[in-house]
Amino acid sequence: MKVAILSRNKNLYSTRRLKEAGEAMGHEVDVIDTLHCYMDITSSKSTVRYHGKELPMYDAIIPRIGASVTFYGTAVARQFEMMGTFNINESVAISRSRDKLRSLQLLSRKGIGLPRTGFANKPDNAKDLIKNVGGAPVVIKLLEGTQGIGVVLADTAKAAEAIIEAFMGLKANILVQEFVKEAGGADIRCLVIGGKVVAAMKRQGAEGEFRSNLHRGGTAEVVKLSKAERETAVNAAKAMGLNMCGVDLLRSQNGPMVMEVNSSPGLEGIENATGKNVAGMIFEFLEKNAKPNNTRTRGKG
Ligand code: ADP
Ligand code: MG
Repeated sequence: MKVAILSRNKNLYSTRRLKEAGEAMGHEVDVIDTLHCYMDITSSKSTVRYHGKELPMYDAIIPRIGASVTFYGTAVARQFEMMGTFNINESVAISRSRDKLRSLQLLSRKGIGLPRTGFANKPDNAKDLIKNVGGAPVVIKLLEGTQGIGVVLADTAKAAEAIIEAFMGLKANILVQEFVKEAGGADIRCLVIGGKVVAAMKRQGAEGEFRSNLHRGGTAEVVKLSKAERETAVNAAKAMGLNMCGVDLLRSQNGPMVMEVNSSPGLEGIENATGKNVAGMIFEFLEKNAKPNNTRTRGKG
């Protein structure tokens, strides 16, 4: 197969590993800088141009689109879909997963376990919003946040109200969520490929930290999942329409709860914690599924 990885930086661990694993399996793998792709969208024959030349026809693309380039990145991915190239994660599914509210609404519609969550636009609703998710302590999150930045724990209703008012005063979009205390500062990252959990790790936040993000000093170890956890992760990936993703779960007293679904999951933490060749498994999925025009929307989304 001829495969393109859409990535801004060929030196990132995940990008490097994907290229290495694909080549080791006998595939031709190019790393293409998403932001340097450009296109003539009105031409009768869809193409993508790169550094003055038309890109060759690829069998598949693996988009690794960072949160800050979602808009342009999904447009580039959509162009490949229009050409009939198989995209492991469709552009519409990536857009869906980037919007935390939209994601939670989709998951909720499918009856998937979630922490009680509310959102509002005006601070005058703050008291009722807090009450509706079960009262303090609550977690308040910036919708655009990643790596734990903009995720705050408010111990009392007064503190929560003040934080909500402050964020709203800055015109930030937020959600308010029940604090799942019994998770003990840990979460479970499930790597789902083609409707199966292929690797999972438990991330534990640093001492005194409720956020388990590895970027915030959390540590990772391999973990055995329960049947319910496995099913929840697989159902979440399906609800989002993602063939490959990271599903983050909290272990709550009411069973597994999905916190977020990541369409460009990092491979470093999970490969190191589990010793598994996740990059290779992504290519195994492509070997079975990358047929021309096999992407559901073919760029229509
Ligand atoms: P980000 O997108 O910035 O990673 P998350 O929603 O994943 O934001 O939150 C970061 C971390 O905070 C999670 O990995 C988890 O450890 C902790 N956390 C988030 N929401 C809750 C919650 N409702 N209850 C308990 N812990 C939470
Ligand atoms: Mg997270």
